[in-house]
Formats: sequence, structure tokens, C-alpha cells
Amino acid sequence: MTRFERRDFLKLAAASAALSAAGCAGTSYKARVVVVGGGFGGATAAKYLRLWDPALEVVLVERANVFTSCPLSNLVLAGFTTMDDIRQGYDGLRRHGVQVVNDEVTAVDAARKTIRLERGGDLTYDRLIVSPGIDFNFGEIQGYESAMQSGRVLHAWKAGSQTFELRKQLEQLRDGGVYILSIPLAPYRCPPGPYERASVIAEYFKRSKPRSKVLVLDANPDVTSKAGLFKAAWKDLYPGILEYRGANKAVAVDAATMTLKLEVEDIKGDVLNIVPPHGAGEIARKAGLITTNNRWCDVDWRTMESKAVPGVHVLGDATLSAPAMPKSASMANNHAKIAAAAVIEVLSGRSPGPVQILNTCYSFVSQKEAIRVSSVHAWDEKDRTLKALPGGGVSAARSEAEGSYAWSWARNIWADSLD
Ligand SMILES: Cc1cc2nc3c(=O)[nH]c(=O)nc-3n(C[C@H](O)[C@H](O)[C@H](O)COP(=O)(O)OP(=O)(O)OC[C@H]3O[C@@H](n4cnc5c(N)ncnc54)[C@H](O)[C@@H]3O)c2cc1C
Repeated sequence: MTRFERRDFLKLAAASAALSAAGCAGTSYKARVVVVGGGFGGATAAKYLRLWDPALEVVLVERANVFTSCPLSNLVLAGFTTMDDIRQGYDGLRRHGVQVVNDEVTAVDAARKTIRLERGGDLTYDRLIVSPGIDFNFGEIQGYESAMQSGRVLHAWKAGSQTFELRKQLEQLRDGGVYILSIPLAPYRCPPGPYERASVIAEYFKRSKPRSKVLVLDANPDVTSKAGLFKAAWKDLYPGILEYRGANKAVAVDAATMTLKLEVEDIKGDVLNIVPPHGAGEIARKAGLITTNNRWCDVDWRTMESKAVPGVHVLGDATLSAPAMPKSASMANNHAKIAAAAVIEVLSGRSPGPVQILNTCYSFVSQKEAIRVSSVHAWDEKDRTLKALPGGGVSAARSEAEGSYAWSWARNIWADSLD
């Protein structure tokens, strides 16, 4: 054996050991599908591949050992629910026969059909599904990385440790302090998410520190989702507490003086929550899947197969969204079902069928009241993309009923993706 071959052999041996540890070595399968990322897209794809074709070996590689939901994480920030309520493990997927490997994917070699794991060596696949979510372009806001390292400036735009940290900062904020939320230009993950965050934190202030302020500085000219409903809630519920300013793009931050520099002026705050511009998760870049604006991965919406790398399917926030399609958990869950069905058809020598999917997105505007937007997206043969069908729309008004549907939606999508 040459040195290179020996190293490769050792890596493959390590990967096999990881799979034996995951519990299914020795079973004979029709083909192996590897899924990268166990968020809404990846977890759902892994589950439905096994449900719809138990003859497939499905390996899910996820760097975190628990799933943490971004949906409802804004309620954790406001103190209206807990981290434990939005977290769960991967045992539900294991019960479906998915081999869950807790590791980081560091490289994809599409020619050799292998992925490289940080700890566990190389893993071969017949089809690969990549659902890595997002990574941030910190460099677009000068000073962001050092500000974040100081622990004073957070995004909390991936639910997890930063959600805890931001909650702590809000609890420690003096009554009369200013919380600034900076929103990047669209497209970004979850269009209504920042406005929901501003609303529920405003309710927390109203109850617990009523002299404090929420200042929303949006790089977009106006609220990008459910604008009428959000603005009505802010006017009715949080006058004097929540202030919204459109066309205010962050360009630099200084944690030492807690100053956010906008294109036109500098503003000081006590809590700086800056969501940086972002694109597809880093592994998509390493795998050569990025096609557009150096950020997003274009796909064939009938199969979710990458337009850049054949045999690799991309899901969720990492995709170049089709017209009027939000980057949402709801969409990632639907993308996963398109991909699972297509992979099964392709591996069986058949052609994938027609595609039509649904998005529903709830946002809380107070602890109990929510608003909703829904849309249906279908394949358009002429323009060769998914297009929103007429219909859909938003709630007539905010209500507690929508709030209880929002909790049901969350419990259902967690179960559909992970149990
Ligand atoms: C505050 C907030 C509120 C939101 N609210 C809603 C809502 O109410 N409704 C809604 O529909 N959507 C909501 N969203 C959006 C939703 O969270 C995302 O659209 C969804 O998570 C996208 O799914 P995904 O699979 O693309 O990415 P993710 O769910 O982020 O999953 C990606 C996974 O890949 C893993 N990963 C990445 N790279 C690697 C690697 N190299 N190796 C191993 N693992 C890797 C990550 O650890 C992660 O677990 C919200 C988002 C935020 C930030």
C-alpha cells in the first residue's frame, strides 16, 4: 500500500467503525444515501427515505448531538418558553433505522462519491443530500468578528448557545436600556423571524422593564413579511417601546463603545443583536454547490438535485430560493420530501413525479397572539421552477387562536421531522 492509500484505508475503516457504532453494520442494503445536516431539511429527508424505502441504508451526519429548533426560539429570548421545550435528541430517527453519526463533514468528493468526517474518516455514498443551513458573512460588517469574540455582540440566528447568551443579556439589561436588532438585506433565513423577535422582546420589556426600548434597524426598505399585521400589533401593543426604522443597513460595529455604525449615522445601544448577511452553510461551498451571488445553491426543484454537482441534492435555507419562496423550516421539510421521493425513484430507475408544496409560517406578536402566512408552490414547466399559486395569504388579524395553532404547527413539524 502507498502512504496515501493506507491513510484512505484507515479513514474508511474509521467510518465503518462509526457506522457499526451507529448500529446497522452487517445488514445488506440496496444503496447508501448519506445526508449532511440534521436540521429541518436533513432530518426529514433521512426519516422519509427510510419510511418510503426500508431497503435503503441511510446515514445522517450531524455535528450537534441534539436538535435545537429556531422556530419558537424567539419565545425563549422573551422568557415565554425554555430551551428544553425547543430541543430534542435523534433517537426518533434511530428508531426508523437511520444511522446517526455525530461528526462534522469537512469535505465532499463527488467524483469518488465520498465525504470526509472530521473524526470518523471517509464515507462512501450512492446519493448525497446536503442540508447545512446557513453560515454568516461576518466580514460584511466591519468589526463584527472581534465584537462577537468579546461576547458582547450576538446574532442568535442559529438557535443554541447564543440564544442562552442573548436571553441573559436581556435579563441583565437595566430598565431604560436600549436593545437594538439589526436585520440584513433579504434574502435571509426566516423573513418574519426578526419582526417576531422584536415583538416578543417588546412584550417582555412592557411587563418587566417598561422604560426600555426595542429599536429595529432594518437594511430592507420596509418590513419584508406580514408587514400590515406586524405594524398594527406594534402600534396597538408597544407604542413608545418598539421603534422600527427601514433602510438602515449596518456597516460596522464597535463592541468597546457598543456602537453600531449605519450608512448614515452611528447609534449606541445596551444590547446589540446584529444578524449578519448570510449564505449557504460552509460545507456547500467546500463541495462546489454554490451557484449564485457567491451565496446560494441552485437546484432542479423537481428533485432538489444540484445544478452544479450531479448526484448531490441540496435542501432548505442553502438553496437559491424559487420566486416568492421563503427560507423556512416549513419549506426545508417540504424540500426534504421532494428529495427523498426523487432519490428513491432515481435509485429504482424511474423518473420523479410532479411537485407541489405548501409553506405555512406563524409569528408570535405577543406571548399568546400570533399571525400567519401561507402559500402553495407548484412546478411551472414553462419557467422550469416552482411558482406560488394564487391563493394563500395572511391571517385576517392577530389572535390567540393563531397562537395555539402556532404551537401545534411547531409540535407537528418537530414530530414529522424527528420522530
Ligand atoms: C429566530 C428564528 C425563528 C424562525 N422561526 C421559524 C418559524 O416560525 N417557521 C419556520 O418555518 N421557520 C422558521 N425559521 C427558519 C428555520 O429555522 C430554517 O428555515 C430551517 O432551520 C432551515 O432548515 P435547514 O435544514 O436548511 O437548516 P438547519 O435547520 O439550520 O439545519 C442545518 C443543520 O446542518 C448541520 N450542519 C451544517 N454543516 C454541517 C457539517 N459540515 N457537518 C455536520 N453537520 C452540519 C447544522 O449543525 C444544523 O443542525 C426561524 C429561524 C430563526 C433564526
